[in-house]
Order: sequence, then structure tokens, then C-alpha cells
Amino acid sequence: MYLIEEEEIMRHLSAKPFRLVSEVADELQVEAYVIGGYVRDIFLRRPSKDIDIVTVGSGIELAKAVAGKLGRKAHLSVFKNFGTAQVKLHDLELEFVGARKESYQRDSRKPIVEDGTLEDDQNRRDFTINAMALCLNADRYGELVDPFDGLSDMEDLTIRTPLDPDITFSDDPLRMMRAIRFATQLGFFIDPDTFDAIERNKARIEIISKERIVDELNKIILAPKPSIGFELLDRSGLLDLIFPELTALKGAETREGIGHKDNFAHTLMVLDKLCKTSDNLWLRWSALLHDIAKPATKRWDKRLGWTFHNHNFIGERMIPGIFKRMKLPMNEKMKYVQKMVSLHMRPTVLADDEVTDSAIRRLLFDAGDDIDDLMLLCEADITSKNPEKVRRFLRNFRLVREKMAAIEEKDRVRNFQPPVTGEEIMDTFGLPPSQPVGVIKEAIKNAILDGVIPNEYEAARRFMLERAEKMGLKPQP
Ligand code: ATP
Repeated sequence: MYLIEEEEIMRHLSAKPFRLVSEVADELQVEAYVIGGYVRDIFLRRPSKDIDIVTVGSGIELAKAVAGKLGRKAHLSVFKNFGTAQVKLHDLELEFVGARKESYQRDSRKPIVEDGTLEDDQNRRDFTINAMALCLNADRYGELVDPFDGLSDMEDLTIRTPLDPDITFSDDPLRMMRAIRFATQLGFFIDPDTFDAIERNKARIEIISKERIVDELNKIILAPKPSIGFELLDRSGLLDLIFPELTALKGAETREGIGHKDNFAHTLMVLDKLCKTSDNLWLRWSALLHDIAKPATKRWDKRLGWTFHNHNFIGERMIPGIFKRMKLPMNEKMKYVQKMVSLHMRPTVLADDEVTDSAIRRLLFDAGDDIDDLMLLCEADITSKNPEKVRRFLRNFRLVREKMAAIEEKDRVRNFQPPVTGEEIMDTFGLPPSQPVGVIKEAIKNAILDGVIPNEYEAARRFMLERAEKMGLKPQP
């Protein structure tokens, strides 16, 4: 499947930037190779924009010479401290680096770096499929240098470290996350010896920053089937170290013959289902976290069986702690996830009950513009194996959607602001900012959402006057 004709490799390498690097490298009399992800992705037929060029010599010199030939079209950035340079050409990014040899110390993932050969450079790569290089020098143009037989691993869909996996993972424990991420993104399998080494070295993950861990988690979550990654993280023991709230969802208890579902398996099913309908990273996070408070709220009730009362609200409250620890953004993205988690049962409850206009208006008001995302989450949340039940829910959801559309057209409550403002209430009754103002404002809002009055200024003003009268307030003359 991955055996690509030589012609196809040549087709990729016929692009102008490669020709130019070739020319310049020959002029400077240095070896140059395209290496890593770009080469892997040629064989996988995946699009790839980041091109890594390694040269046995100075990467910065080569980059400068290439940028010089490209003239104004190209943009050069030099990172002297790292010995790297980047040339940007339209939407292509070429990264240049000199071949290097790395050696690690136990307490850091920052290696000691020395100049090295191509072989040294390939030895420091994380996986065999990421260590392949294509030569760019004219006399060997397009020659594949694949010392660890990455090509076979590619055909067998295997993620494997080039050297002893215990050393590879202990040197840079981020590679454990990367192994699982690539397995998830590419649908590959982790070689058993490599996987066992992840289990053995899992504790080393503690030296990796949360930002980098989250980067990998986000890539797993954005993959077509993220459950692959979360199951591997769980089986390797990494998940318990980086995200114990998720492993706490595991297991199903039975009492008096009544069991509850395994909430870990359910969560992953919901996440996978949602990924078929949405690419939104934060909606995907919401799916991952929608039942996060189930362990904390689980109770056994003689009459009701297992209950997880208020797990949506407790979940909403757990999210800032999780976001803070994981160094996820504590901004409107987090608020969105909180909102989704707190509302995730509302449409389902609606679909289960008789659907009143008032309940629909309140849902529209609470969800605002995120209502469509919320509906996607709720649909993904139906994981019942009973086809009759699933059919009934989906039919009711259709009804809820239809009603929402009708009510939104009539009442426009989705992003509704009460037609009478607090300002106007204060002016009318000569009140300072105080509790009665809030009470009247809330009463107007509820009257609109409950359909007692239409969402219009005149009706709201009349309602305000009546309500205030009951509170003993009189309009200012
Ligand atoms: P993607 O772009 O999907 O993240 P990639 O393989 O291009 O995939 P990069 O992070 O851009 O990923 O890395 C480029 C190359 O650098 C890799 O293919 C690999 O050869 C090497 N590499 C990156 N990170 C590491 C690491 N932690 N340890 C060893 N080699 C690495």
C-alpha cells in the first residue's frame, strides 16, 4: 500500500524549493536531505507543509544561501541558539538544521548537542517512520536513506523506536505521548516492545511540561477516532498520571443486580461519535469532559438505583481546576466547555418529556449561539444499544429542533436581551442600583421565556409596571 513508485517521489522532489536546495548544497559542497515527517507523509500520501532539511554542515549557512537565491519572495528567520533557520516561501516552511548527535541527562529532556553525521541524526529521531531521509544532492537525488527500515514499518502500520525504546523514551519522555498520538492520527499500531517500554517508563512523563502534553492530547482529540489514543494512554498507565479524572470514570459497579455503564467507555464512544459530526476542538473537549463528575456524584439509592445527581453542574465546576492544571486556556474557550458540560442533559431531558414552548425558550436563552453545538453533543451522547430507544431519542431530537426553529423565528430568544433595561427600571421608579431592580428585570425575563408576554417592548413595559405595583413601587411623576 505504501510502496510508492520512484516516479512519485521524484514528482514531490521536483518542486522548486527542493531543486534550489539541491543546487545550493552542491555549490557549498555539503550533503543535504529532506527528512522526518515530510518524507513519512509522502509515503502515507498525506499533505504536509513543513519540510525539514538536514545538512551535514551548517543548517544556517545553507538556509541563508537558499533564501539569497529566492530573493524577496522568501522570508528567512535564523535561530542562532538552536543552530536552525527557517525559510518561508508562500505557504511552505523549510526548516534547516545541521546533522546532530544528541546525548541526554536523566533530569532533563534537553540534550547535549554536537555536530554529527546523517546517521547520528537519524539515531536521535523518535520512530523508524520518522527517521527516513531523501537525498537532495544532484548525484543521489531522491535516494532513500532508511537505516531502520521505516518503509517496512510503514507497510505494517507500525510505530517503533529506531534504538532501544527504553533509552529513547527515558531520554525524551514526550516521545511516549508522540507514539500514542501517531498511532491515533495514522491508525498505526505500536510495536509490542515499544509499547512495553512506554509502560516501564511512564513515570518519566513528570519531566515534560503540561503545555507539551496538552499539545499531544489536542492532536489526539483532533484525530478521526480519539478513543484509540485514550485507550492506549490508559493501557500504558500514562493516563492515570496525566489525567486521573478520566481514569476515575472506569469501571461499572453492580448492586442488587443493578449495574451502571462504564463511564470511561461511554465517554470515549461519545467523543468518537461527536468527531463524525464536528471538528471543533472545544466541543470535542466538552464531549471528553461531559460526564467527568460522575464518579464524584455517584450514589446508590434503594428506590432509584444508581444516581449521578447534578453531575453536569459539578462537572462544570471541576473544569477550571482541570484547565488550570493542564495549562489549557482559561478564557472563553473554557467557559464554552463549562457551558456545554452544564447543559449537556437539557435537550435530552426535553426529548424525553413533553416538549413545552417555555422549556425550549429557556434552552435557547441559556445556550445562545452555541445551541447547535449543544445539540451535536447531545446526539453523540446517545450510546444506547437498544435501537428502539435510539430511534425514539433521535425522533424527539428532530422534534426539539423543529420547535426551536419555530420559536426562534417567532420570539428571537437565542441572544435575547430583555427589552426593558435595568436603567429604564431605575429611571421609571427613581430607584438606585438595588435588589428590586434585579427582581423586576428577572421577572420580565422569565415572563418572556415562559411565554406569558411576547418578546416586545410595549408588553414588557406594561408587565414591569404591574409587577412593580405589586411590590409597592410607583412610577416617578
Ligand atoms: P506532525 O507535523 O504531525 O507533528 P512531524 O513528524 O512532522 O509530525 P514534528 O514535531 O514537526 O512532527 O517533527 C519533525 C521530525 O522531527 C519528526 O518526524 C522526527 O523525525 C523528529 N522529532 C520531532 N520530535 C522529536 C522528538 N521528541 N524526539 C525525536 N525526534 C523528534
